[in-house]
Amino acid sequence: MSVSGGRTRVGRYELGRTLGEGTFAKVKFARNVDTGENVAIKILDKEKVLKHKMIAQIKREISTMKLIRHPNVIRMYEVMASKTKIYIVMELVTGGELFDKIASRGRLKEDDARKYFQHLINAVDYCHSRGVYHRDLKPENLLLDANGILKVSDFGLSALSQQVREDGLLHTTCGTPNYVAPEVINNKGYDGAKADLWSCGVILFVLMAGYLPFEDSNLMSLYKKIFKADFSCPSWFSTSAKKLIKKILDPNPSTRITIADLISNEWFKKGYQPPRFETADVNLDDVNSIFNEDEDQTQLVVERREERPSVMNAFELISTSQGLNLGTLFEKQSGSVKRETRFASRLPANEILSKIEAVAGPMGFNVQKRNYKLKLQGENPGRKGQLAIATEVFEVTPSLYMVELRKSNGDTLEFHKFYHSISNGLKDVMWKPEGSIVEGDEIRHRRSP
Ligand code: ADP
Ligand code: MG
Repeated sequence: MSVSGGRTRVGRYELGRTLGEGTFAKVKFARNVDTGENVAIKILDKEKVLKHKMIAQIKREISTMKLIRHPNVIRMYEVMASKTKIYIVMELVTGGELFDKIASRGRLKEDDARKYFQHLINAVDYCHSRGVYHRDLKPENLLLDANGILKVSDFGLSALSQQVREDGLLHTTCGTPNYVAPEVINNKGYDGAKADLWSCGVILFVLMAGYLPFEDSNLMSLYKKIFKADFSCPSWFSTSAKKLIKKILDPNPSTRITIADLISNEWFKKGYQPPRFETADVNLDDVNSIFNEDEDQTQLVVERREERPSVMNAFELISTSQGLNLGTLFEKQSGSVKRETRFASRLPANEILSKIEAVAGPMGFNVQKRNYKLKLQGENPGRKGQLAIATEVFEVTPSLYMVELRKSNGDTLEFHKFYHSISNGLKDVMWKPEGSIVEGDEIRHRRSP
């Protein structure tokens, strides 16, 4: 008997909505039913992970991450495994991705960019000192907590992404190599610390410029630019910032600035506060057991699900919509392009799904249905591969549902276009609360005088 009330349970965690989908995993909201604590759980395919010979490295990195408590690194609480999956339970971060800020408000002021960059370097430097390299520093792994503190995710999981790479699976989903150091692209074997610092340099550039230092629609041309560090700083960068970025984005790793030298750089030092953190006494039995060759079945957790829409609790709703605003038909914050969007509906869940199915079909999407979820798979090739959209219906109250559309593959701008079209077809499904007016595809609450 499941006591989850319409949700999937894994061990003592109740799984909620998907927070994001990455190249090799899904991240879900979850709640510890014993303590009420909210967490994020990263779910990986066990077979993919264990098939390879890097178990020792993954085990070592995950173990190290469990020991780290750094204010700028997302904490890893525990790992679990079922017959087919690995679950990494981690700190839930609710402020969104750092780059959402740029997407919505444009580039940052130099002082703000420096603050985030200092957080980033703190995290990276500390993990390096413990022998853990990131190797996949990119915007999606830079999250903000509720207080606007930068938290780096996926430290200690680099071995996982590397494997998938070897496998060829990351081939299309890996996305752009815009943040990757030249020596990594070259694949000649490299120093993880230097490579991470390069990525930090690209991130700093983007924060201050609002665009990428290296970009080209042709992959080979992009590589060439990266190999030569062929970029130029916009005029609004201060001279000292320009100098520093040049030292970080040095294509030769042996002359590239080190983190130690970076930390004593005048530009970097301004307003710098060294982090305060602790290391803890942590039990590593869970890590050891899931990577055990002769798997002890009693250690395995089971996923149990019920065939009805997931119920959202208030906290989840708030963490979902960044300030509870059910009236927002399609979340669209001043022109920002997000890879997920939501609307509210008063129709029964099944009806909502059938309508979406009926609208998406003629738009050129194959529809797969499972429980209260739909997968829409685009038939056209698209700029970054076929557009794929995951849809899920959540129960807010028995007569109010929230529908989420999330891009799981493809180009964000194409997704943006897609939801413009589908929102037109779904007008009668969407619930427009009293006192709201429609402006284009947006609903704003009328301000009372
Ligand atoms: P990626 O390869 O894009 O980093 P991940 O599987 O690591 O993919 O995560 C997918 C998305 O899930 C992230 O981009 C982020 O938006 C969200 N996410 C990841 N970890 C957390 C967390 N601890 N708290 C909240 N959201 C998270
Ligand atoms: Mg990530």
